[in-house]
Amino acid sequence: MSVQLVWFRNDLRLDDNPALHHACNRKDDQVIALYLLSEQQWDNHGVGNNQRSLIIKALLQLKKSLKQLNIPLIVKSIGQFDNSANALSEVCKSQGVDEIHFNIEYPINERRRDKLVVEHLSQVKCHRYVGDSVTAPWQITTQSNSAFKVFTPFSKACYTYLDSNPVHCYSIPDKRDAQNFNVINTGSDPIPDIKTSLNIPNIDENFLANQLDGFLESKLEDYKDDRDYPYVPGTSKLSAALAVGALSVRRCFEVASNSDKEYSKPWLNELLWRDFYRSVMWHFPHVCQGKAFNSVDKYINWNKDDAQLKRWQQGNTGIPIVDAAMRQLNETGWMHNRLRMVVASFLTKNLWIDWREGEAYFTQMLFDYDFASNNGGWQWSASVGTDAAPYFRVFNPASQQQKFDPKAEFIRKWVTELQGFETSDIHKFEKKALQNYEKPMVDLKFTRKLAIDSFKSAKSAANEPQ
Ligand SMILES: Cc1cc2nc3c(=O)[nH]c(=O)nc-3n(C[C@H](O)[C@H](O)[C@H](O)COP(=O)(O)OP(=O)(O)OC[C@H]3O[C@@H](n4cnc5c(N)ncnc54)[C@H](O)[C@@H]3O)c2cc1C
Repeated sequence: MSVQLVWFRNDLRLDDNPALHHACNRKDDQVIALYLLSEQQWDNHGVGNNQRSLIIKALLQLKKSLKQLNIPLIVKSIGQFDNSANALSEVCKSQGVDEIHFNIEYPINERRRDKLVVEHLSQVKCHRYVGDSVTAPWQITTQSNSAFKVFTPFSKACYTYLDSNPVHCYSIPDKRDAQNFNVINTGSDPIPDIKTSLNIPNIDENFLANQLDGFLESKLEDYKDDRDYPYVPGTSKLSAALAVGALSVRRCFEVASNSDKEYSKPWLNELLWRDFYRSVMWHFPHVCQGKAFNSVDKYINWNKDDAQLKRWQQGNTGIPIVDAAMRQLNETGWMHNRLRMVVASFLTKNLWIDWREGEAYFTQMLFDYDFASNNGGWQWSASVGTDAAPYFRVFNPASQQQKFDPKAEFIRKWVTELQGFETSDIHKFEKKALQNYEKPMVDLKFTRKLAIDSFKSAKSAANEPQ
């Protein structure tokens, strides 16, 4: 009999957890689980209480679910990643661990941490698995073995790869012998109570399985048409569960792939956008260090205007669709994808405020905060990332709201002071003053032109074609 340790990280689930599955391979082995809580790491990255409270909820749930399998969970509060190797080493010694299993995380600090851990624990066998993406960044490369920088060829290569290597998910391991739970004096630290004033999403594993099935059954077919309209509940809203690993993205991909190919494709593509940004982060780790993928960013003089930033954050810009979106974020910790693009374009192009400010605010507010997708989304919107929006593409919030919220239903829901106005007046917000509602904080046409001209200058300073 040997002792197997599962080191849980952003994979707080039992279903399709490759590390857990492999640790439980041999019936007679003793299996224990570990989570290292690194609150300073969250501080360093500005992760807000919304996501922190979600992680704590997921952790408490995991502890309960593991107990039902007779697997004890040890939680150690280690402050920052630097202390991981020592903490693991202590647990390995005290529990007589023979082998460690964990699912790979792709951001640079996590990679450094894991490298140190493996070096430090040279006596213990470490097994790593792919559990946080459908494909692994090193599996999907160009013919010349380099990384993709554009999504469409990346996704084509993913589908080709998956044709010959289809996703096979792992089911929840069998319950272990009761003795497995009892023999260990876990010496666990208390799990902190982190509060948020918002409703924390339900991430119970059974609930999520139903949510996924329900989405696939009743919404997947119309997803292609509905997903752009914020007043239609047409998307899966699974992002928070995916971000903390309470739900397996591989499971989502596997189940959706078994639905009708034609109409599942748009949703499968979105799951692959998640993989794409993970691949970018893996192959171009400078994006994890506050730098843009594209060096043109260095030649841009972003505006530093705290008052304007605050108006954007609070949803008081005088642009109805932007305000509605920011208030949705502030009141629920989630924002519709189309609106993430609209508010990001407005902040970076119309207000000319650094995309890092927007990225940081989303990090603070989102339950579904995910470094790769957030960073990728912001760099895309600011036209400084891989496969980014061309710099001259500045979303016009006025036409965005006419197109995607034609009856102003979403706007009225979140910007309550606009409830009494005619739809046509709400859409004419640039020309017509709306009583008790702010005037637009900037002229959209003028700032658009300014942004394009400034981008052109930055590109020429960076010696890039315009
Ligand atoms: C500026 C900006 C910031 C963003 N920040 C985040 C973030 O911090 N966390 C996050 O999970 N997503 C982020 N996104 C992507 C996207 O907006 C959300 O994933 C989506 O709105 C979540 O809603 P859903 O679960 O209903 O998505 P669905 O439409 O049902 O999509 C299913 C899943 O696919 C993934 N996905 C969908 N769209 C994208 C995308 N464009 N990029 C990467 N993955 C995607 C998500 O995991 C999502 O849950 C950001 C996009 C932008 C433009």
